[in-house]
Amino acid sequence: MNITKLFRPEIKKIKPYISSPTIDDIAKEIGVSKEKIIKADSGENPYVPDFGRLGEIKSPKVCYYPDPSCRKLRNKLSEYLKVSEEKITCGNGSDELIDLLIRIFVSKNDEIIINPPTFSMYKFYGELVGANIKEVLRNKNSLRVDIEKMLMNISDRTKMVFIDSPGNPTSTLIDKGEIERLLRRQAIVVVDEAYYEYCGKSAISLLLKYPNLVILRTFSKWAGLAGLRIGYAVACPLIINTIDSIRPPYNVNSFAQEAASSVLDNKELYLNRLKKIISLREKCVSYLSSFSDLFVYPSRGAYILIKPKTNAKTLQTYLRKEGILVKLIKSCFLENTLRMNLPGPSEMKRIISVLEKYYEN
Ligand code: PMP
Repeated sequence: MNITKLFRPEIKKIKPYISSPTIDDIAKEIGVSKEKIIKADSGENPYVPDFGRLGEIKSPKVCYYPDPSCRKLRNKLSEYLKVSEEKITCGNGSDELIDLLIRIFVSKNDEIIINPPTFSMYKFYGELVGANIKEVLRNKNSLRVDIEKMLMNISDRTKMVFIDSPGNPTSTLIDKGEIERLLRRQAIVVVDEAYYEYCGKSAISLLLKYPNLVILRTFSKWAGLAGLRIGYAVACPLIINTIDSIRPPYNVNSFAQEAASSVLDNKELYLNRLKKIISLREKCVSYLSSFSDLFVYPSRGAYILIKPKTNAKTLQTYLRKEGILVKLIKSCFLENTLRMNLPGPSEMKRIISVLEKYYEN
């Protein structure tokens, strides 16, 4: 029996997301200890949450299902965001919320507008429901969203617009005024603020005026909880209730709920750690720019984009052998470019010394 004949046509066409290797995989591959690996390829924060020291997490009773509506966490989020709880829902990573939102608003052949280079999962989940993905490229030099082109491309078929701000991999921001222009159109505008804490610029205040706005955030990046999978959406109660009505009932596990609550109880500690990394951002850009082979884009977000004049893949392979993982970007005009997380102080020193060695040879 040929079971592939039974697959939906969208499934046959889908290109699976390629995850980055784990620290264990790389340590084994290059034969060094795990502690030597600098994992700078997936936007995670290098600081590991120290729940033991904080004594905050009381082991949840995992024999019971978790709180299906994440009440404690939503209450703390409401305080953090200054938004009422009825406008917040949590997901198994913000990835899950992207999937749920698309399934709520988009049918086969409806249109989704994205602005490459951008986060790949908008297209992925869009294609999974048979959507028509319209790609409105960012400005090639500034890497910013081309708002005029976006407005020109919104049509009666457009159901959703996705904008990541700061962008992945671009690390550029969209202005509130630009978002407002999109919000005046008849479409859902999702502003993905996965890296909000790296820039402090948010469109959340526009929720008071526009029911078609959805803000996505995550604990994966600034808070170091990528491994626990927890993100959230902020939107009008009608959208939030609809997400809640179709999501799996226990989508956020008990540990993730406890850990995210603890992060918010100790948010100054987490934000201060992050501040140290952010304060190095400019320095890192200028150190890297001192290598004549490297063009380094300005960054307002969580990544540094590096475009070598020589072959980026060769440089990536060299760094990998030295235990430094960075991502090779192949998206439209950003081909031959490397994306690196903002490093901490000791990581930066090592990256610079490895680069010096590379360019000496
Ligand atoms: N949005 C953007 C822009 C991202 O870069 C990522 C992670 N790479 C996500 C969402 C997904 O985050 P989460 O871990 O919460 O699923």
